[in-house]
Amino acid sequence: MLHLIAVGLVLAGAVLLMLSLVPMRRMIAELPEGALRNRWRLLRVMIVAFLLGYFGYLPASWRTLQVSGDLMAPAVFFLGGWFVFLVSRLSLRTAVDIRRLVLLEQENITDPLTGVFNRRYLERRLADEIALSRRYDLPLSVLLMDIDRFKSINDTYGHLEGDLVLHRLAKLAAHTIRETDVVARYGGEEILVIAPNTAISTAETLAERLRVEIQAASLLSPDLQTDPSLKITVSIGVACFNPTMRGNRELINRADEALYRAKGAGRNRVVVDG
Ligand code: GH3
Ligand code: MG
Ligand code: MG
Repeated sequence: MLHLIAVGLVLAGAVLLMLSLVPMRRMIAELPEGALRNRWRLLRVMIVAFLLGYFGYLPASWRTLQVSGDLMAPAVFFLGGWFVFLVSRLSLRTAVDIRRLVLLEQENITDPLTGVFNRRYLERRLADEIALSRRYDLPLSVLLMDIDRFKSINDTYGHLEGDLVLHRLAKLAAHTIRETDVVARYGGEEILVIAPNTAISTAETLAERLRVEIQAASLLSPDLQTDPSLKITVSIGVACFNPTMRGNRELINRADEALYRAKGAGRNRVVVDG
């Protein structure tokens, strides 16, 4: 009888250990290649080694099983298997939940049409950057970019093509700026770039680079580019934060005023506030 219970406990523990490999395999498949994935792989190898130990234990301890106290070790084997099984399932569920949360957060701050940050993120991030700029006395610039005569692009090629142009332009802007800068959709066809730790002269250079790149790029679908005079260009207003400003609104308004002047001066140009 004692032997039967011992065999039952050890075998049940072994089955639980084997079952724990299933969620572990799913989790390893979800992880990107790297140190973390390798550590989970190592853990899986260790579980397999444990399994061998489970099967080796029974024949080795067969003769020593005499009193009920000797069932302590098989019970620990069973509880060990159960524990590993629970941890493995819980780890998978935690990993899946965290991934879902990260995706949700990403969706929450991304503009679906352009793929760059949305207005919600822009306002939050700009407020943070203003606070940093105030505290550490760092320069902070913003670039407000608006597509020139975009309405005529929509009117000529259709709204869907207009959407594609907007998408390509935002992607181009995101590739052209530095890693520390932030590109976000401010409004309909207006893109705002936050350039932390950037003085106004550098921001002007960045804006000019953006303007030239956009002018040179083929943002319209090639088969639709029938009218060469309809080139996609942008006007950009640049402004720099100063501590007398109260917050986001005032800084963006200054960039907007500069943008308005760029439009008035003939479009396809950069105008700096001040
Ligand atoms: P300008 O800025 O040079 O003064 O001329 P504009 O024609 O670009 O200016 P306006 O602000 O009058 O018009 C903006 C147009 O942008 C109106 C709208 O048709 C277009 N637009 C805004 N948001 C979107 C969008 O999400 N998709 C498309 N396809 N068009 C958009
Ligand atoms: Mg506009
Ligand atoms: Mg426009």
